[in-house]
Amino acid sequence: MELIKGKEIQELTFNEIRQEVGAIREKGIEPCLAVIIVGNDPASRVYVNNKKKACETVGIKSLEYALPEETTTEELLALIEKLNNDSSVNGILCQLPVPKHINKLAVIESISPEKDVDCFHPVNVGKLSLGRAELVPCTPAGVIRMLDVAGVEIEGKRAVVIGRSDIVGKPMGIMLMERNATVTVCHSKTKDLPSITKQADILVCTVGKRNIVTADMVKEGAVVIDVGINRNGEGKLCGDVDFENVAPHCSKITPVPGGVGPMTITMLMKNTVTAAKNQNNIK
Ligand code: NAP
Repeated sequence: MELIKGKEIQELTFNEIRQEVGAIREKGIEPCLAVIIVGNDPASRVYVNNKKKACETVGIKSLEYALPEETTTEELLALIEKLNNDSSVNGILCQLPVPKHINKLAVIESISPEKDVDCFHPVNVGKLSLGRAELVPCTPAGVIRMLDVAGVEIEGKRAVVIGRSDIVGKPMGIMLMERNATVTVCHSKTKDLPSITKQADILVCTVGKRNIVTADMVKEGAVVIDVGINRNGEGKLCGDVDFENVAPHCSKITPVPGGVGPMTITMLMKNTVTAAKNQNNIK
């Protein structure tokens, strides 16, 4: 059994991104990501700080707009409009969740698709399902990157995704299909989950429930990717997979923490560079 380590793959990917950023800067363009945070959610604050740090690490300029809790949808949309029209800003993201009184869908749809580095805009979701994606959803793209770096062949393999959320499970299924895997996507209404997961050469779990994947659900030699982030009884971070008992049956597996976690932000940096290149016609 081999561990697929997110931190190492992040470092490798950051090095590549740093080089790309250097090449773009030589053309007089400074890639720039604008991050909007509304309110005082402590978890969101941590995520936004981490995004800022990642930008510094790869040489992307970052702008932060911290708005008060009582910001209205209209005020937020006005800021996004301003950033959409600012050609020095290549990527825009609004940290979710936004406070309840804000129209989240309106916010997502107001970000210019060319600058939508989270890949939440319906235009980008549509392009992904048409096989014409330019910007890619960060977490599933991070999983694909991990599989590639770990040397896991995807084409022709049976892939099973547990979870069908708009930001992880659904696009994960599409991206695996795009890479010529034969894909099954499972969810809370799936009957006899183990009979399906046992067929998986590649099993991706994105549910958010501890120990939802147990050893009897995994085929011998499978590659298991655990996207879930949970806390165990002692308050320690853990994934969706019963790691201790599942790992011995896998050829490769991602741990939690230290697995998929760092990859989302990594692919956000990659998307920002892609956006900067596209907006400046750089190949
Ligand atoms: P979500 O929106 O809550 O979706 C969970 C999915 O799991 C749903 O599709 C749900 O089915 C399915 N599900 C729930 N119970 C199930 C069961 N018993 N059997 C089979 N499927 C079941 O969650 P998400 O946003 O995809 O996130 C999932 C987990 O990944 C969370 O722990 C989150 O924190 C983590 N995450 C990690 C990263 C990272 O960077 N590592 C990024 C994003 C998310 P229904 O559709 O039928 O309800």
